[in-house]
Amino acid sequence: MGRLSRFITLGSCLLMLLTVSCQQQESNASLRSPQLFRFQPSKNPIVPRTMSRLAREANIKIRMVPSNSRQRRAAKKIRPTFLTIHSTSNHSSSATAMQHSRALCRGAFSNRSWHFTVDQYMVVQNLPLNESGWHAGTAAGNHHSLGIEMCEAENLGQNHFRTWDRAAKLVAVLMKRYNINLRHVVPHYHWTGKNCPTPLLTNGRPGPKWGWFLSRVDYYYRCINGGTPNR
Ligand SMILES: [Zn+2]
Repeated sequence: MGRLSRFITLGSCLLMLLTVSCQQQESNASLRSPQLFRFQPSKNPIVPRTMSRLAREANIKIRMVPSNSRQRRAAKKIRPTFLTIHSTSNHSSSATAMQHSRALCRGAFSNRSWHFTVDQYMVVQNLPLNESGWHAGTAAGNHHSLGIEMCEAENLGQNHFRTWDRAAKLVAVLMKRYNINLRHVVPHYHWTGKNCPTPLLTNGRPGPKWGWFLSRVDYYYRCINGGTPNR
C-alpha cells in the first residue's frame, strides 16, 4: 500500500469514527438524564421489605391489550432504561385504573398504549414489559421507557396522594427489577415538554411536587434495597 492510499484509508477511518461519535452524541442527547430538581430524600425511617412484598402492596392486576391489536403489532422489543410518568387528565367518575385498562384493551385509544395504569386502589398492567408502548411522544421515549399512567378521577373520590404513593411503590419495584437509576424516572415533560403528569408539575415544569414524588420513589427503593439508594 502506497503512502497516499495509506493516508486516504486513515482519513476514511477518522471520518467514520467522527460520524459514529456524532451519532452517539445525538442519541445520548435524546436520552439525557435530568437533574434531580429540588430533590430532598425522605427522612422517614426505612421499613425493610422484599421486592415481591412491595409489589403485593402496590396490588398489581393484569389486563393485557390483545396481542393482535394495532398498537401491539407495531411494538418493538425493548429493555427499559427509563420509567416515564403520566397522568390521564381524565376527571370523569368512571376514569379508574380498571376502566382505563378496559378502554385501552378494546381499542378506545387508537394510537396510544402504555404499560401500567394506577389509581388509589390498584395497579393494572396493560403491556408486556419487553414491548414498546406509544406514550412518550418521541421514539427515544417509547423505545427506552415503560409508560405509567396515574388516574385523576376526583369525582369518584380518588385520592391523589394514595395514587401517587401507589405509583411510587410500583416505580421502586421496576427500578430494582431493571437496575434503573432515580435520574431515569422522568415525567412525560422530559421527552416533549408536555405538561404531564399535570398534578405533579409546577407551572407545567418539574418543581417541588415532582421532587416530592421522587423522594417517595427513593424511599421505597431504599426499603427494598437494604437502605442503599440508586441515584
Ligand atoms: Zn403523558
